Amino acid sequence: MTSLQGKVAFITGAASGIGKHIAEVYAAAGAAIAVADFNPAAAEAAAAELRGRGARALAVTVDVTDEAAVDAAVSKTVAGLGGLDVLVSNAGIQIVAPLQDFSFADWKKLLAVHLDGAFLTSRAAMRHMIEARRGGSMIFMGSVHSKEASVLKAPYVTAKHGLEGLTKVIAKEGAAHGIRANLICPGFVRTPLVDKQIPEQAKALGLSEADVIKKVMLKETVDGEFTTVEDVAQVALLFAAFPSNALTGQSLVVSHGWFMQ
Ligand code: NAD
Repeated sequence: MTSLQGKVAFITGAASGIGKHIAEVYAAAGAAIAVADFNPAAAEAAAAELRGRGARALAVTVDVTDEAAVDAAVSKTVAGLGGLDVLVSNAGIQIVAPLQDFSFADWKKLLAVHLDGAFLTSRAAMRHMIEARRGGSMIFMGSVHSKEASVLKAPYVTAKHGLEGLTKVIAKEGAAHGIRANLICPGFVRTPLVDKQIPEQAKALGLSEADVIKKVMLKETVDGEFTTVEDVAQVALLFAAFPSNALTGQSLVVSHGWFMQ
């Protein structure tokens, strides 16, 4: 099995959905985990669950859009778990509306969580990884929407495309320090984030919820299947454990063929 023995991973949005399962897979591979999330009770519960399985895990409450809070959360992780080797910048939100109805406040809120969050967490991780001189791996949670557009998702598609640029810059700047950066681009995964969108899209598009799943979300896949948290976590494990700079600056689409490179 791919090993993360002796590694420390800081995973944002790790109290729910995709991030929570990445934390479980990393812990099973031997990593110590900082469960970094906005929601303190859920972060503590997820960390306690990991500890119950024999892992080292710390709950770190953080709003990824808050500069001081992100710096403090990374410092707390380094102090509490003895370092930082892997960043998974995964926290995210979704807001859907036609462009003409999008409020400026919602546009800014979505970009802040995805882009400011990725910048602030990677900057804090980069500073630590350079100082510690033991390299590292940064993984950003993109989406098929890093490659494709969909209606009703202007800020989300904009942000997810932006993360591909950030990944490539960090791959270049990090190389001299043994720091790799890669982007995971999942198709639709049944998490609270997607469950919330189904009725919203049904309303906005005038479709039944079953048709939103079949005719919108999974329409372009090769087999009509959702991607799973396990599918995404296995890609995250590959990127975290890969031993050299050969695999850097890449994006890997895991989407049942919705998007083909
Ligand atoms: P989720 O709603 O299940 O989990 C998101 C987590 O992020 C929550 O625990 C939430 O508390 C946390 N979070 C939100 N805002 C935060 C903030 N400001 N600071 C810290 N934590 C915050 O969602 P998910 O589906 O697991 O999504 C995780 C990531 O995967 C997101 O970046 C999302 O865009 C991306 N993604 C999801 C899908 C999908 O279909 N579910 C597909 C492609 C990409």
